[in-house]
Amino acid sequence: MDLSEKCTLLLNSEHSLPSDYVVELETVQEVHQVDKDIAGFVRNMLDDAKADGVDLLICSSYRSVARQRELFEQRIKKHMSEGMTYEEAKAKTGLSLAIPGHSEHNSGLALDIVTPRYQILDDDFDKTEAFKWLDKNAHKYGFILRYPKNKTYITKIKYEPWHYRFVGPEHAKRIKEKGLTLEEYLEELKNVSS
Ligand SMILES: [Zn+2]
Repeated sequence: MDLSEKCTLLLNSEHSLPSDYVVELETVQEVHQVDKDIAGFVRNMLDDAKADGVDLLICSSYRSVARQRELFEQRIKKHMSEGMTYEEAKAKTGLSLAIPGHSEHNSGLALDIVTPRYQILDDDFDKTEAFKWLDKNAHKYGFILRYPKNKTYITKIKYEPWHYRFVGPEHAKRIKEKGLTLEEYLEELKNVSS
């Protein structure tokens, strides 16, 4: 798959990675790896943020499907230990963690980004300088906020101000301007081209 196809690759609860999908990785920060085709964009984004006095810290990047499965099962067990049935635990887990093979992290095209002074993955990350910088600039490097507030009914994932997905600068700019989710944007693209 070339980069332009990767940019419009939809991964969500209904769409998984193609079984023949090959990920070639490159390290961008500490232990963190992304698809080698987007590594340059990530480095530029981190460097430019730093030049603006903002420290962006990657806390999650590429994750294998096997690792995703491990995380998913751990989370289900945790919820079951708190008294939920298997079905309840699975549903709750699915709201914050994608099903193995359905996560953007499995593609190497997504990053969870925090900042050294605020590393908690919760809604209040959006009050940090790091979020404000990302909100203003991430699209220039091809990244979109993938799970916006009030769009959970479309994305099926709760608000995640730290999760950014690479779609390339052109798509990212249009998605940002229109305030769309990737699901809505791809639907719109399909209608335009048909
Ligand atoms: Zn994420």
